[in-house]
Amino acid sequence: MGWRPGDRAARCKRGHGHHADDLSNDSAHIIPQRSAAPSRCAEWDDDRPLDGLRRHDRHLQPDHLTQDSLMTESLASDDPASYDLSMSPLPEPPTWNQPLPEARPPAEMTIHHLPTGTYDTRAALAVKGGSFRDKRHFAASAVLVRHPKGDLLIDAGFGAGVAAHIAMLPRFMRAPYAVGRTVREQLDDSGYDRSRLLGVLLTHSHWDHTSGLDGLPGTPIWMNRDERQYAAAPDGKVFRQVSRGHPIHEYGFTDELYLGFGSSHDVYGDGAVVVVLAGGHTTGSVIVFVTLPSGLRYAFIGDLTWQIDGIRRRVERPWLLSRLADSDRGRLRQDLLRMIALDGLMRIVPAHDLGSYDGIPLLTPEAAARSH
Ligand SMILES: [Zn+2]
Repeated sequence: MGWRPGDRAARCKRGHGHHADDLSNDSAHIIPQRSAAPSRCAEWDDDRPLDGLRRHDRHLQPDHLTQDSLMTESLASDDPASYDLSMSPLPEPPTWNQPLPEARPPAEMTIHHLPTGTYDTRAALAVKGGSFRDKRHFAASAVLVRHPKGDLLIDAGFGAGVAAHIAMLPRFMRAPYAVGRTVREQLDDSGYDRSRLLGVLLTHSHWDHTSGLDGLPGTPIWMNRDERQYAAAPDGKVFRQVSRGHPIHEYGFTDELYLGFGSSHDVYGDGAVVVVLAGGHTTGSVIVFVTLPSGLRYAFIGDLTWQIDGIRRRVERPWLLSRLADSDRGRLRQDLLRMIALDGLMRIVPAHDLGSYDGIPLLTPEAAARSH
């Protein structure tokens, strides 16, 4: 049911006494805040605590998309349940019914979540059918994989220079953001020896995955050839700056099928970390499959979808955003369907879905001190 001016059903569900058509009262719901210390509607702030994060609310107005056009489009597909349920999801693929690939992860292997901050976006801009009132904090995170043969970071999160990196983006991509500790700070504060790092394995080269390279001088960057080429284009502006002085370790793929993906790279040769090419978002985007000694499996899928809704509700990015953000939408859809077929067999972690990291321990000094 679409929203129409004056529609009483659009009243704030939390009883704040304002309506979706009353912009003077409802600006906290609809228009990104400019004030540094906004008094926000709780409906936005109930999802994730931002304690300890420093907020920067002055950055985003999606200027080139006018607020009018955003509101009209978004509210038209809005619905009290936060989704337009009439929107048809992708067809459900059959669940993966073959054995999962063999893996022999060493007993000492661990993974850790290094959250570096968040930036804000509306569900309406993240997944088809998402509500404009439903605000999402997009995670900017890294994952540390510890392995006796050497450790890897998957992505690098926000770095110390994140403000300058955001300023390098086109205006419409700038978003309010909150920063915590950078990857470097988290590694160093815990007493971790950074010489253990084999490199930073990028899911892709976009700014929000690479900004934190600025604090890891000399650490090799692991990329495939397709992504190196992609990063040479305008979208790689931030990457090119933060990657200066880093050796690039270009890895290749074999054509060994892995969970239906045609190009794979077994990092340690034991099946514990396998990278597959999923070049829909950027031409060299990858998914990193990790198997822990417990048998628990993870798929770090980068920006194949931004939020877990993309998997659970089988929804793609909204058309306009996908046009702006994705290199090959057909390929992206195929890879998304492949991952949907694996849901339930492993934990799927879209890079920007904060809740998907739940259960992955942070890096404590005790964990960092453990040597292999
Ligand atoms: Zn991203």
